[in-house]
Amino acid sequence: MKFTVRTDIGKLREINEDSWLADGRLFAVADGMGGHNAGEIASALALETFSAAFGPPVQGAPGEAVTEALAVAVKLANDAVYAEAARKKAYAGMGTTLTAAYVDGDELWLAQVGDSRAYLLRDGQLTQWTVDHTLVQEMIARGEIDEELARIHPLKHVITRALGTYPTVTADVFSWPAKRGDIVLLCSDGLSAKLEPDIIRRILTQAATLDEAADNLVAAALDAGGEDNITLVIMQPLEAAGA
Ligand code: MG
Repeated sequence: MKFTVRTDIGKLREINEDSWLADGRLFAVADGMGGHNAGEIASALALETFSAAFGPPVQGAPGEAVTEALAVAVKLANDAVYAEAARKKAYAGMGTTLTAAYVDGDELWLAQVGDSRAYLLRDGQLTQWTVDHTLVQEMIARGEIDEELARIHPLKHVITRALGTYPTVTADVFSWPAKRGDIVLLCSDGLSAKLEPDIIRRILTQAATLDEAADNLVAAALDAGGEDNITLVIMQPLEAAGA
């Protein structure tokens, strides 16, 4: 199991409100939002609670048990952030995205709330593996706009599901079998909003190592403006044959 992590404050922000988690089996990015430093608190508290609530599960546990444990861990993380936001005035309304991946052998799980993303690179093809919980994504689903318009839409930042802003939240949780050589990228919108999928695909396929890919992705997002915090986790659950 190979993985690497990068986080960058970007060019305009005074603080980095993104958080990340990577322990070899559980991986996540969280993009916090809220006034002052609240976003930073929300994303860090969410990941801390999520990771403590989830693990460490038994290796080889039945798939449904892992799916259920991920869903419960997201709910507990939501409770923690929501309670903290209610406790302190400066934290009112804070929340965070959460995109998490869990690996057990050759099985992968994803849990998703918000607009951070997971991409899968398999056999040279890049697929966005999560669906954004955003207003523009709903408009795309209804056929009102296309991906291109969504990218420049004035309401592109409006998210329809976040962790910690409401008393309850439901994550999208799903699993799939990993294939040898698969590369999974988790990232905050500081990366995905700046780089077209084809650029991401090219950087991932051309880099000799995950570290090189991570450095090049951050550099490309900064070159493209880098207005937001940029965070990414890249992992390869099963090394390519002959690697
Ligand atoms: Mg962001």
